[in-house]
Amino acid sequence: MKKIKVINVVGCRPNFIKILPIMNEMNKHQEQFKQILVHTGQHYDGAMSKTLFEDIYLPQPDVYLGIGSGAHAEQTAKIMIEFEKVCIDKKPDLVLVVGDVNSTLACSLTAAKLCIPIAHVEAGLRSFDRSMPEEINRIVTDSLSSFLFTTCRDADKNLKREGISGKKIYFVGNIMIDTLIKFKAKAAANTWKKMKNIDYVLLTLHRPNNVDDKHALENILEALHEISKRMPIIFPAHPRTQKQIKVFGYEKYFRPFDLKQINFINSKNLINLTNPLPYLEFLNLMINAKFVLTDSGGVQEETTFLGISCLTIRESTERPITVAEGTNILVGTDKERIINESLKIISGRGKMGKVPKFWDGKTAKRIVNIFKKTL
Ligand code: UDP
Repeated sequence: MKKIKVINVVGCRPNFIKILPIMNEMNKHQEQFKQILVHTGQHYDGAMSKTLFEDIYLPQPDVYLGIGSGAHAEQTAKIMIEFEKVCIDKKPDLVLVVGDVNSTLACSLTAAKLCIPIAHVEAGLRSFDRSMPEEINRIVTDSLSSFLFTTCRDADKNLKREGISGKKIYFVGNIMIDTLIKFKAKAAANTWKKMKNIDYVLLTLHRPNNVDDKHALENILEALHEISKRMPIIFPAHPRTQKQIKVFGYEKYFRPFDLKQINFINSKNLINLTNPLPYLEFLNLMINAKFVLTDSGGVQEETTFLGISCLTIRESTERPITVAEGTNILVGTDKERIINESLKIISGRGKMGKVPKFWDGKTAKRIVNIFKKTL
């Protein structure tokens, strides 16, 4: 029997976390699948890429495109040029893309022009805010894909509204939760046990709308400064955000922080800033946090699964199920709202939620079963 040749595409931190369970599942059926892992190099530094591969045992890429950072058009175009060569050389039967980053879009466009079927994992998510580059990536990728794997029924509806045939849409659940379930016990047992006795807030912030605009960032930092008078904040900061803090001269809000020392009791209301953390360490911090402040997509879902209160510093979310069913509250970027909702949680009035359907660790199995039946 001829094997199905699949190119798996990764480019950024959340992609690695999403592709892992699917690759592991296809590996269980090696007689049917031949896999090639292509890393575009969209995220290339140690904390955002290399350590993550080691942390979750993701195999080293078969092909590394080494694209690096750049403006959107430049980065997308460079990925397309290099990925086209890979597709012509490897002749895959399927290109599998995850999420909503420029690598997702660029590789989908390239595959579509070469008439190679595309599978998109995490299809149909919509913030309805086209000022977010990710929203453009989602819409275009979905319109080109043959397999659209969704995390929730809302996503199915969004796709059908855009005219995509129901025959291509498969509600399979949340792939990030497969990885979380696999590593949860290890993360909980592993590191920083002392944290468990200390209440703290975990923060991530990297969306361009929040960190590239001086006034937007200052507004958020003032809110965080107020919150940190009541509870210490730990902030593994994305490289983009670290850069913007320096550009705008906002270092005064922060102090460098080393997790191993756990000395934030004396933090003098400054935000405890550290580099991005390996997945297991970040997961450990999430599990033990009083609550999470974020503008990340994936973190909204992970906190819902873990039952940890989450305040999302954005005006919209492409993951409304985390608000409707989970622990997430959209607080926008208004300073008072961020402070007030945080104080509610600190005083024990956090939101309760439930785990959405099919966020159960079996999503990769569902996806691979669909490939086995249909390809
Ligand atoms: N994450 C991590 N280390 C960190 C911060 C986040 O491993 O220091 C993980 C987090 O648990 C989640 C993913 O990275 O699985 C989310 O990535 P990100 O927020 O960059 O992307 P988004 O989901 O917003 O696209």
